[in-house]
Amino acid sequence: MRKIIVHESVLTAVFAMTVLLMLQFPIRSQTWIYPLVRYVAQVKMNFVARSMAVYETEHFIIKYEKQDADVILLVAQAAEKAYQPVVRELGYTPHGKTMIFIYPDKQQLNQAFGWSGDQSAMGVYWGGAIQILSPKAWLSEVNAEEFIRSGPMVHEFTHLVFDYMTSGNYSRWFTEGLAQYVEYKVNGYEWKTDSNSLNRDLYTMEELDKNFDKLSNQALAYRESLMAIRYIGEVYGEAKLGEVINNLRKGQSLSSAIREALNMDYADFETSWQNWAKINVEHEK
Ligand SMILES: [Zn+2]
Repeated sequence: MRKIIVHESVLTAVFAMTVLLMLQFPIRSQTWIYPLVRYVAQVKMNFVARSMAVYETEHFIIKYEKQDADVILLVAQAAEKAYQPVVRELGYTPHGKTMIFIYPDKQQLNQAFGWSGDQSAMGVYWGGAIQILSPKAWLSEVNAEEFIRSGPMVHEFTHLVFDYMTSGNYSRWFTEGLAQYVEYKVNGYEWKTDSNSLNRDLYTMEELDKNFDKLSNQALAYRESLMAIRYIGEVYGEAKLGEVINNLRKGQSLSSAIREALNMDYADFETSWQNWAKINVEHEK
């Protein structure tokens, strides 16, 4: 027992030190420190989940509690079904198998990642692994079709692949927009509510860049993120979206990545996607 406590505290200390080290360096240097932090985070998550059961598929290693044994095949199927479309959309194949942790309820999910994560309470991408809420906790009737279409696998796996591509060089709105864009293309799923219509005052890019998680209307922040990405993909074309991502991979700031790929400064980008979305998207259906 004592030995386990020592191990866990050592891991936590190594992790904290690595994060501190990371914060000492400017953005550009993070490209080499970031994968290290992500790796340490994974080791820690695996250690904490050491008593969980394991199910392995071609591309995923899934850890789960015994009470979720009856949904493990469903999660495995959805994960494998998400794999190729996401890899194809992003043009990048992650190395090795991806870890997925299934938690029986929200409390255990929150305890497990403990950091600010995704608005979607069904899943979180953090530290190189996907953590999801058991489908039994949010689907009134668990069925494969519904879990594949509106579940978290495509969304969270997109976050993961994009994170590995760019070594963390992105702002929060961009990865949320991209994850929703791939979900929208692959599953036709969009998060729409009464509170995130685009015919209202929108958050500025500055607000999305600096304060994404603290914005009071999260549904709107997510929807705006999707719109900004859709604008690039649909108006300029997916090759241009790929260029923006490539610029991020090279370590450019987001505003410079967009400026170089679209030949448009960040302020014009903001006005342009907002006008496009208000005129074209809000009247789609
Ligand atoms: Zn997300």
